[in-house]
Amino acid sequence: MNMDDIFTLASNDMRARRSKALQDAESNKIKALENDEYKSIANKIGELTIDIAKARFKKEDATPFEKEYDKAIKEEAKILSKLKLTKQDLEPQFKCTLCEDKGFSQNKHCSCFNELISFYTNRYNLNTLQPISFNDCKEIDPKIVETMVKFTKEYPEKRKFVNILIAGSVGVGKTQLTQATANAFLDKGLYTIFTTASSLNSNFLDYHKCFNDNKNQYLHHFLECDVLVIDDLGTEPMLNNVTKEYLLMLISERMLVRKLTIISTNLTADELTYRYGERLVSRLLDYHTSVSIQIIGKDLRLRSKNKNNQE
Ligand SMILES: [Zn+2]
Repeated sequence: MNMDDIFTLASNDMRARRSKALQDAESNKIKALENDEYKSIANKIGELTIDIAKARFKKEDATPFEKEYDKAIKEEAKILSKLKLTKQDLEPQFKCTLCEDKGFSQNKHCSCFNELISFYTNRYNLNTLQPISFNDCKEIDPKIVETMVKFTKEYPEKRKFVNILIAGSVGVGKTQLTQATANAFLDKGLYTIFTTASSLNSNFLDYHKCFNDNKNQYLHHFLECDVLVIDDLGTEPMLNNVTKEYLLMLISERMLVRKLTIISTNLTADELTYRYGERLVSRLLDYHTSVSIQIIGKDLRLRSKNKNNQE
């Protein structure tokens, strides 16, 4: 199961949703029209609709037709209820009124489609997101955890930052904190993707190597999601013309539309600059738009002490 499969699954679900809504309405209509009483009232309503339109067009009095029409509608409801149907049952009942279950509205993926992607991504553990909450982050300085709790609570009403960089050595609980943060955003109903830097890098490479219309599927969800969490930046292999370039593109694009990106890393600012270049790091460390959090864990001190003892 990869991101392609998730995309296909979600698209199939959308199609099934829409066609069910259309089919249900159609079969209810057929059922109703099998009834002669309903058929005749439906015809009458159709004729009256035309009469009303004609009268209004000619600027004549449409009231008599309108009265007839109201009566016919009531009659129709009575007949339908005998058939255990309502007027609504004859129209497609789409789950999403915004896109009528097409998955697209205004040339963009509809939020209902993004929810499906989120759902499957988490269901298939594609993003290795564990059910960790802030309560599980016991190893981390409570002040840092509190800051993140507050930030997730207030977001998106208060969009203070678009980038959060969580830095610290191995074993200080960065992944715990980023996972808890991702879960908090998911609980808020935000389209959130949690990915490792390696997995993201593979998507960059797939995108880079693809030359057909499917190209966008490798990156579009990373661009579109409300919150993107990239775990362990710096552990992925550095691919020429890929890793650095697409990461910069992704972060810059997301910043333009003020979407939140959270990055965890073992690297220091200098190491990040050496690896990804000044342009990316200046964006990530710009205090107008970004915040960086340094975690120093108990774990780490303990480990380095043991290490020193061994030496
Ligand atoms: Zn929709």
